[in-house]
Amino acid sequence: MKKTDFQVSNKKPEVHINKPADQKFWQKQGPFSLWYFILVMIMFYLLQSAMQAKREEIPYSQFQEYLSRGQVAECIIKEKIITGTLNLTDKKSGKPRHFVTVPLYNADLANALEKQGVKYSVAIESHFLRDLLFVWVIPFAIIFLLWGVLSRKMGSAGMNFLNIGKNKAHIHAETEQQVTFKDAAGVDEAKQELGEVIEFLRNPEHFQRLGGHMPKGALLVGPPGTGKTLLARAVSGEAGVPFFNISGSDFVEMFVGVGAARVRDLFEQARTKEPCIIFIDELDAIGRQRGGPVVMGGHDEREQTLNQLLVEMDGFDTSKGVVVLSATNRPEVLDKALLRPGRFDRQIVVDKPDFKGRMDILKIHTAELKLAPDVDLGIIARRTPGFVGADLANVANEAAILAARMNREAITTGDFEAAIDRVIAGPEKKSSTLSPEEKHRVAYHESGHTLTAKLVPSSEPVHKVSIIPRGIGALGYTLQVPEKEKFLATKEELLDQVAVLLGGRVSEEVVLGDISTGAQNDLERASELARDMASTYGMSEELGPITFGKKEKSLFLGTNFAEEKNYSEETARVIDKEVTRVIQESYQRVRKLLQENRAALDSLATELEEKEVLSGEEVEAIIKGAKA
Ligand code: ADP
Ligand code: ZN
Ligand code: MG
Repeated sequence: MKKTDFQVSNKKPEVHINKPADQKFWQKQGPFSLWYFILVMIMFYLLQSAMQAKREEIPYSQFQEYLSRGQVAECIIKEKIITGTLNLTDKKSGKPRHFVTVPLYNADLANALEKQGVKYSVAIESHFLRDLLFVWVIPFAIIFLLWGVLSRKMGSAGMNFLNIGKNKAHIHAETEQQVTFKDAAGVDEAKQELGEVIEFLRNPEHFQRLGGHMPKGALLVGPPGTGKTLLARAVSGEAGVPFFNISGSDFVEMFVGVGAARVRDLFEQARTKEPCIIFIDELDAIGRQRGGPVVMGGHDEREQTLNQLLVEMDGFDTSKGVVVLSATNRPEVLDKALLRPGRFDRQIVVDKPDFKGRMDILKIHTAELKLAPDVDLGIIARRTPGFVGADLANVANEAAILAARMNREAITTGDFEAAIDRVIAGPEKKSSTLSPEEKHRVAYHESGHTLTAKLVPSSEPVHKVSIIPRGIGALGYTLQVPEKEKFLATKEELLDQVAVLLGGRVSEEVVLGDISTGAQNDLERASELARDMASTYGMSEELGPITFGKKEKSLFLGTNFAEEKNYSEETARVIDKEVTRVIQESYQRVRKLLQENRAALDSLATELEEKEVLSGEEVEAIIKGAKA
């Protein structure tokens, strides 16, 4: 699918399949849980009362009496109490009696009481509970709260210092894996390659006897959302072996040495469950090239973790049936050592699905939904080139939500259309913040793209044009859907693409006489195309069939990293001149086209401004009507 406008990054659903239920910090099975704390407090209390029980508490008047009778053997006078021993012995045990009393230091009162023969005692208010609260409970509660907040802020890698080295990262084997290959579609090649791993896991001894040699690790490589995690899980499901799942980011801890300890722990546990699968998701989080620039001193930790991983992988014996699977969408950043034989020497590409793959994925994700009879998954698949499995799952889900919101019996094609738009560009903003002038401009801009697309010979059919603002940055778009997926483009076709990209800007200029910033992304893409034509595809007559510059393209993200300039300044100037020429010639071409078809442009823009969305057929009809 090509969107001739603002590039809106597809909203990727965050998929956390195997995270354990978020544990509250006080529920952690650490040595420092709240329950330990309460237990200690209780014991403390019991101890205290046990010690007190050995002494008998006597009223002060009684003490005075013992004293006057000479029955006090010795006593210790403390600030608030007097403790001591009597000359009397306990009747039961025969031991001297210990006592404790609280003195009254008010001599007058004491004398007066004595005179009247009043039996009196003095008591101190017990501050035990109060002290317990202020000295122990409250400070500890504050520390606890702070700790909780901190560790939540810092994520799992936070201040969880009492759990260091403990593998809280759900290192438990998942034995009953529900996912199988049936749940993943459009990735047949990957499935085929993983089939061998499954064979091996099902029957390691048999495999061994036949002289089979198992790779220790396989790396699933592909863009986000293509089903790598899903496939790894499915391998375990198909083979019926335990699955140890850990994500690279779980290893990244604050303290040096923790990650390495986790790796050790992980492999140790896996060895007790052979045959099994260890799956390290997001390998790039630990497996990055070592010795890069040091960021905040956080390098040592990752390097140690990576080294430990390499050591463990070298150390274990494949014959027992432990297979290490791993996934990444950035293979180019991985440390070369990881890809050496005996480690992740086998790479399995999990690519974006093609048309048929998309249809199969849609089938899986709509299997449990109630679809209207007219819904054709083929059309939806056709409309979603470039979508990955996660996007399609999202489309099916959104469509179901929309249908439910509308109280429909079944999900209609319209729901799917809306869902696709949503996944492309984020939720539709009904409350338009565009001023009428802006809307007018956007309508002409998009009509310019649309009409140019209709007028140039090789352009792909316009499926839809919309000026409903959606998400940030996207004011409107023209959606062109190829009839079939293309693998090659001719020079003519590329020039037509450049023309369509320029259509928006030209229309603004021709009709409104002024230009706006709205075309920035169009121009960027047009220039890049023109530059590629000259320097990469060798399509310039001036320069000849030569490529210039070596681009290090990230295979999966499609972004250019750095260009190695292997040509002279002279050539650079010629390339620049060629780019300028192509853009300028295209600009003139489009201007001529739009001026000649001004009537069609005007009626398109008027209709669009009113309806905000036009379908391919409507566009067709409007252009025909204007020509007649
Ligand atoms: P990755 O790990 O490659 O980023 P995931 O395996 O996490 O992608 O995919 C996320 C979700 O998207 C899956 O749980 C599944 O629902 C859906 N999905 C992705 N790829 C496929 C596929 N090939 N077939 C069916 N569903 C898929
Ligand atoms: Zn545009
Ligand atoms: Mg994943």
